[in-house]
Amino acid sequence: MNLKLNLKNKVAVVTGSSRGIGKTIANGLFHNDCKIALISRNYDDLLKAKNEIGGDNESIKIYSCDISDFNEVQNVFKKIIEEFRTIDILINNAGLTKDNLLLRIKEQDWDRVVDVNLKGCFNTIKAVTKQMIRNKSGRIINISSVIGQIGNAGQVNYAASKAGILGLTKSLAKELGSRNITVNAVAPGYIETDMTDNLSEDIRNELYQKIPLNRLGSSKDVTNLVLFLSSDKASYITGQVMNVDGGMVM
Ligand code: NAP
Repeated sequence: MNLKLNLKNKVAVVTGSSRGIGKTIANGLFHNDCKIALISRNYDDLLKAKNEIGGDNESIKIYSCDISDFNEVQNVFKKIIEEFRTIDILINNAGLTKDNLLLRIKEQDWDRVVDVNLKGCFNTIKAVTKQMIRNKSGRIINISSVIGQIGNAGQVNYAASKAGILGLTKSLAKELGSRNITVNAVAPGYIETDMTDNLSEDIRNELYQKIPLNRLGSSKDVTNLVLFLSSDKASYITGQVMNVDGGMVM
């Protein structure tokens, strides 16, 4: 038995792949021989990410898209399926925060975070499911967060959106299991990216007390699990929430 992932020529779409965790996941899939479609809003950042990852125009393509917009997502995914002929793997990674305490949070900040983080997953899943059912195969991996499991003061919108992803994942795993499509969620803890860049030294030290492995995680830590879940080696795993959090939540 070997642990080769056998992802050669699989087509993967990674949302939020212009930087951070999404870029590392896209890089990992590409260097395991997938063809990849990168999605985020800023075209220049996407182009930079594409050039960094390398590869020719056939194996990496970039698509500027706001995943919270249902129609835009359907159109972009139609184009991806036309250009790559199929989508085998969908990684719903794009996400953002707009933190505030409930008493101060504005309605539009609630709406925006839920629209991007949760409805964005619904939009992309609606766009890929038909052809995955036709192919009788597919992998959907949704990036949630430990905050969706344990909550956090000042993040009601983010926590609700990430908890919503867990319900979406489990329901969809039940709907699509008979079609040989697996649906799983990954819940990262605190990972070094732009999103966590502004954590103060004091907060970092406080966090280390709560993390048995005593450090923040890296995008590579998350990518290792995502690569495994994307592969045939994970064909009997569905509806699960897996933490990459240094033991923070157990
Ligand atoms: P990041 O560095 O801020 O990157 C976010 C990515 O999402 C960017 O590529 C961004 O590009 C894209 N994006 C944001 N809004 C979008 C929209 N409406 N449509 C399309 N793309 C959009 O974030 P990260 O830290 O890598 O986090 C990635 C995922 O992991 C997120 O879902 C986050 O909630 C989750 N997570 C992160 C941590 C952490 O500690 N970093 C922990 C747990 C979970 P544009 O701005 O150009 O659109």
